[in-house]
Amino acid sequence: MKCFVVRDLLPNHIEGLNSKETCAEIEQHLKTCRECRAVYEKMRTPLPIDEKPEYETVEFAKTFKKIKAKIYKGRMQAAFITLILLICLILFAQLYRISVPYDSSIMKVEPYQAAAVRSRDGSCYWESLDNLDFETAKLVLSGDYKVFNQVQFAHREKKYSLDIEAYGRTIRRGGEAVKVIYFCYTKTLWNHLFPHGEQNYYSYSRPAIVYGPDCPIEDYQPRPCEIYYLQAENIEKLYKLSDEEFDAQREQAIFVWGGEI
Ligand SMILES: [Zn+2]
Repeated sequence: MKCFVVRDLLPNHIEGLNSKETCAEIEQHLKTCRECRAVYEKMRTPLPIDEKPEYETVEFAKTFKKIKAKIYKGRMQAAFITLILLICLILFAQLYRISVPYDSSIMKVEPYQAAAVRSRDGSCYWESLDNLDFETAKLVLSGDYKVFNQVQFAHREKKYSLDIEAYGRTIRRGGEAVKVIYFCYTKTLWNHLFPHGEQNYYSYSRPAIVYGPDCPIEDYQPRPCEIYYLQAENIEKLYKLSDEEFDAQREQAIFVWGGEI
């Protein structure tokens, strides 16, 4: 039997449609002819797609669903982490403060007169003469309250909301007591990134507050005072310095105001 005849007969042979004699001859030929045997094997092997089509589709759908669910979960996690990071960033930007360089056109140290007022519960506080109510004004005028010069810090900044940090200390310089005050304006990183509307004139912090408990209002002693602008991220660090170190900060600071308060 010739090869082309065998190959023509192979489909029927596989289906079992040929006569016994033909079958025997084909089998005989396949034993001796490698090429025809290869064709025969190829024909017998069913295509993998036809094998279990439904099963595969179901499996694929399952896997696809799983992958989709995984992607979704991953996306949700990523979104959640991004949200948390964003909140942290915003919080950081709103809390982190940047010191502002000195600008004499917007930053002022303004003297004003204040009365040392004793409230009914016994505590003392400074009251600007501009803010006195009628009863307190009468007492001040009758001499029951002492009036002193004080200073307040102010700024006029169009773009940022500025905050003041100040710290003062009475030091001895060549036998003389001098009040030294350092102050610095700061703004938040947030304000720096997103400057907003016009700010009103803003004044803050009288020396009594700057001095804290070292500056009692009762038996208040006016002394020579020097006020410096010290651009520093955290002026509270000055608390830790010795008097000499504190005074030496003047070298890096800008003299802004001098007088007796
Ligand atoms: Zn052959």
